[in-house]
Amino acid sequence: LGVLVNATGVSWVDGGPAVEMSIFGGKLQTTSGFTSGRGIITIRPNVTTASPAETAGKVESRSSAPAAGLPGVRVLDRVSEAGAAAPIEEAKIIIAGGRGVGGPDGFRIVGDLAEALGGAVGASRAAVDSGWIPYSQQIGQTGKIVKPELYLALGISGAIQHKVGMRTSGAIVAVNRDADAPIADFADLFIVGDIFEVGTALLDLIRARSG
Ligand SMILES: Cc1cc2nc3c(=O)[nH]c(=O)nc-3n(C[C@H](O)[C@H](O)[C@H](O)COP(=O)(O)OP(=O)(O)OC[C@H]3O[C@@H](n4cnc5c(N)ncnc54)[C@H](O)[C@@H]3O)c2cc1C
Repeated sequence: LGVLVNATGVSWVDGGPAVEMSIFGGKLQTTSGFTSGRGIITIRPNVTTASPAETAGKVESRSSAPAAGLPGVRVLDRVSEAGAAAPIEEAKIIIAGGRGVGGPDGFRIVGDLAEALGGAVGASRAAVDSGWIPYSQQIGQTGKIVKPELYLALGISGAIQHKVGMRTSGAIVAVNRDADAPIADFADLFIVGDIFEVGTALLDLIRARSG
């Protein structure tokens, strides 16, 4: 049985699935199908919205012989990922920082807003590659795909590789001092301004409201 993993999209073409995958660290996008009639496809989290099937599925019971010769697996130890923060894949609110935060200290306002709103901190690859925040928080083609109800982007330009990781978010709010930043084209609310000025004003407002 063929297995296609971590699909970023699946469509039905000529009676079979056409499965899109991102490979070689996001450098290539491939479209694959099965040469035999059946196969297993696993989908990357958050790339699609689940909806009820039009008709009920049919359960087919099958037995399978245990695979011969596979070595047993024994867990020797468990270690936590260094610097791991709140998981972003399931977060309902994400505050993400990009190169515009200017450095590790700039992530303080991002973290404060996330804490005030009960959300998680995300980042663009530019911020991760600069060493300001761990890779576990990277959103995009070579990071996590997220689908929060609110995505607040601070100092992120909105490159396509970032967009593919957050475009299915409920409401996208972006703060950028460049009125022509690409993220303006797909944000629901775009604020032209300095992230520290806007972020601090927003934080004061949230804290005042939550008493
Ligand atoms: C194969 C491949 C895979 C990639 N995968 C990813 C990925 O998974 N995720 C990802 O994010 N990127 C990815 N990238 C990189 C992507 O192309 C962009 O380079 C990256 O997303 C840019 O990050 P950024 O928006 O933080 O930085 P920039 O593009 O430099 O944008 C910074 C923004 O901050 C604004 N700004 C600066 N200072 C302030 C301020 N004080 N107040 C307000 N606004 C300010 C600027 O106007 C600018 O718009 C990938 C690239 C390649 C080639």
